[in-house]
Amino acid sequence: MNPLPLTTFPVSAAPRLTDSHGRVIHDLRVSITDRCNYKCVYCRDGESGSQYPELGIDEYLRLIRAFVSLGITKVRLTGGEPLLRRGLLELVQELASMQTLEGRQLDLALTTNGHLLDKLAAPLKAAGLNRVTVSMDAVDPETFERITRVPGSFKAVLGGVRAALAAGLTPLNINCVLLRGFNDSQIEGFARFAREEGVVVRFIEFMPLEEGRLWSPEIVVPLAEIIERIDRVLPLVELPARDAGETARRYGFADGVGEIGIIAPVSQAFCGACSRVRLTSDGKIRTCLFSQVEHDLYGRLRAGAGDAELRAYIAHTVQGKEARHHIGEPGFLKPSRSMVHIGG
Ligand code: SAM
Repeated sequence: MNPLPLTTFPVSAAPRLTDSHGRVIHDLRVSITDRCNYKCVYCRDGESGSQYPELGIDEYLRLIRAFVSLGITKVRLTGGEPLLRRGLLELVQELASMQTLEGRQLDLALTTNGHLLDKLAAPLKAAGLNRVTVSMDAVDPETFERITRVPGSFKAVLGGVRAALAAGLTPLNINCVLLRGFNDSQIEGFARFAREEGVVVRFIEFMPLEEGRLWSPEIVVPLAEIIERIDRVLPLVELPARDAGETARRYGFADGVGEIGIIAPVSQAFCGACSRVRLTSDGKIRTCLFSQVEHDLYGRLRAGAGDAELRAYIAHTVQGKEARHHIGEPGFLKPSRSMVHIGG
């Protein structure tokens, strides 16, 4: 993208964030650390420690406020593992008091591995968080801990899920990334788990975003296969999407008890309906998970940019959002950072 001539992008000309493909962007994902207490085999290469700096809580707030003033209505905190981040409760409290352009409360969600949720669910709810998504890649403790590489992690996460339900952080989504040969044995078990625990389990197709080199088309368990396997033991009915930008295809069980979802970015890409941008823990805007370039919003703030300049920079950057990803196509390049460092 060309260097930005700020003066040519007055905010008044961009009251809502849109891109050059006509999509309206109203969903912001903010990574608040790239540290993680798990080393999931399909994500991390086994090394620990973060690679990128974190901003201060006040700095995240200033940047998020600029996005919200441009029409963002939903903010999801992520990482790394966001529950590791000092100052999280204060951040949630401030975000919960932020108003959208329509004068409503922000829709405020958080994605976590759930390891520390047992203790934090109630304080997060009290601080104003609306919902959590917990990542869980197996319902069998042994398989689970082979993936996370952390002993005792299954019990901790199950405790976290139950604490979040008790605290009213609902509807509670469980996200499960499926990899053939690793955890595809868990599909039917997860369907039962969704019904028994009162959670929505969402299976996610594995994308080439890992630190190592594991991804291949064969390792992806596609949507059609997941549906067929569950439907064989617990008949499913497809449910209507709740809104146009919804990433998950929704299915209910035919007896009316429970729901699952499938997020199929590989076999049935939904880029045309993407309403999302990301802010990395070091304050860079990523307009697509698979971007090759990042845009240094924090650099602008550090250089002394005022709010109007930050807004103009965001509006200009979002205009350049990529049309779609190119997973599986010849010449596909992995993005410049892996999932744990982008913010999932
Ligand atoms: N630590 C938090 C957690 O575990 O939810 C937030 C960050 S984690 C990177 C966010 C989500 O990205 C998790 O659900 C994880 O399973 C998912 N994820 C990581 N690598 C992925 C990949 N290559 N393809 C699809 N999802 C992935």
